[in-house]
Amino acid sequence: SSGEQQYDLVVIGSGPGGYVAAIKAAQLGLKTACVEKNATYGGTCLNVGCIPSKAMLHNSHLYHMATHGELKKRGIEVEGVSLNLPVFLKQKEDAVKGLTGGVAYLFKSNKVTGIRGYGSVSGPGQVTVKKEDGSNETLKTKNILLAVGSEVTPFPGIEIDEETVVSSTGALSLKQVPKKMVLIGAGVIGLELGSVWSRLGADVTCVEFLPHIGGMGIDMEVSKAFQKVLTKQGLKFKLETKVTGAEKTNGGITVSVEGAKGGNSESLNCDTLLVCIGRRPYTKDLGLESVGIQLDKRGRIEVDKNFQTACKGVYAIGDCIQGPMLAHKAEDEGIICVESIASGHEPHIDYNCVPSVIYTFPEVSWVGKAEEQLKQEGIKYKVGRFPMAANSRAKTINEPEGFVKVLSDAKTDRILGVHMINSVAGELINEAALAMEYGASCEDVARVCHAHPVCYQTFLIPFSSH
Ligand code: FAD
Ligand code: NAD
Repeated sequence: SSGEQQYDLVVIGSGPGGYVAAIKAAQLGLKTACVEKNATYGGTCLNVGCIPSKAMLHNSHLYHMATHGELKKRGIEVEGVSLNLPVFLKQKEDAVKGLTGGVAYLFKSNKVTGIRGYGSVSGPGQVTVKKEDGSNETLKTKNILLAVGSEVTPFPGIEIDEETVVSSTGALSLKQVPKKMVLIGAGVIGLELGSVWSRLGADVTCVEFLPHIGGMGIDMEVSKAFQKVLTKQGLKFKLETKVTGAEKTNGGITVSVEGAKGGNSESLNCDTLLVCIGRRPYTKDLGLESVGIQLDKRGRIEVDKNFQTACKGVYAIGDCIQGPMLAHKAEDEGIICVESIASGHEPHIDYNCVPSVIYTFPEVSWVGKAEEQLKQEGIKYKVGRFPMAANSRAKTINEPEGFVKVLSDAKTDRILGVHMINSVAGELINEAALAMEYGASCEDVARVCHAHPVCYQTFLIPFSSH
């Protein structure tokens, strides 16, 4: 073991939660270190999550436009379009490299000490880092922030080799386009990566346990419309169906499925199987027991409203605690947690205003409550809807698919939820989040002067019609 050092804050994990928190803490004057076990900074999001998947979604969309008549319709005739998969993957890798390198640069310029190694809590105010060469370094610190993130939830009995049976990580680097791809789980990852490979030519079948696609929190009206569009694009869905096992055969992989409630068993053949049934907190060998920190039933680190664990001075944020597993949620928690450590003020976050986006084509997004949720809670609401087909900008750019749906309080006109499916839904949703954070009524939003012509105007009409 080597020397000891005194920090105000040691962050374990450099994902969007950890690296953003470390930089903010240093800017607030805390002497800060960030411990990362992987070779590059940026966590799941930058290395094998948000960033590479969005590169591939964008480029596969361009390819699909060129090969499925979308360009021809616009008078752009290209011939001999073909896919160069190595170059396609390299553009994604370059984007990742640029951004993970950017985090290293930001650490330097903000005076965050980056430490490569496996961190664990070895006592109150103490982090031990196990280095690659086998040595240990002990860091003494006033505060510890656990930003250890999450990992793929395994499917019992199905072994992931990241070649033919893959998690999202393997699905971001397939060496060839699958002929037949089956995916378990039609949640966010399934629909995004299923879209990528389907656009590049794979025959994709999504097996989903629930009777709807898009995972939890999605509005059913949106989910149904979404399924229709994706089906038109060639994705196949087996809803209310569960996978019971998978076996590698000479010809590929045989996946056994049956009805969610039993019965209707059949086998599906494929050459690539993507397991995407969710993610779980990654808290392995973190030394939590030694300082009395508890995990809940789903393996998440328990924290109070200050993000503090049962051990004073040890905090946790991001995918390893409760709440949606999203990069922007992890970042927000990281910032307000260190602000509160530095200032002593109580942090505040409204989880109802955290937007969700699925980056397919068209995109799907929402913030606040779904109609089903409002019904369940007995809240009296109004619904405003408007189709993209009637929007001038959407018409001019030939992206008329989808609609916007606004839910508001029947009495006060306050916005309760906004749900949409359209080509720019991931961008539009952020103004709804802003409005909800400010406690806006629908009239407030409708009275703001917006530029013309933009897809945004579709978003305003349901507000003004309330
Ligand atoms: P992570 O990003 O998981 O980072 C944790 C870091 O801690 C890792 O680098 C890990 O190596 C390190 N670590 C863990 N334990 C230790 C230890 N003991 N010592 C040292 N280091 C340790 N979210 C979005 O909002 N938008 C998207 O478009 C999106 N797309 C996604 C696509 C895919 C394919 C996947 C898998 C996820 C996607 N997500 C997306 C989710 C997003 O990646 C996560 O919500 C986000 O990364 C969580 O951030 P985090 O900082 O909590 O954890
Ligand atoms: P998810 O929770 O979104 O979807 C998993 C789906 O699998 C659910 O619909 C679930 O019903 C289904 N499922 C579970 N067990 C099953 C079984 N045995 N058989 C059939 N279906 C089954 O999880 P994910 O898609 O794996 O994504 C993991 C996390 O990563 C999510 O929390 C998500 O928020 C995050 N992520 C976000 C984005 C984004 O924001 N655009 C993109 C990718 C991932």
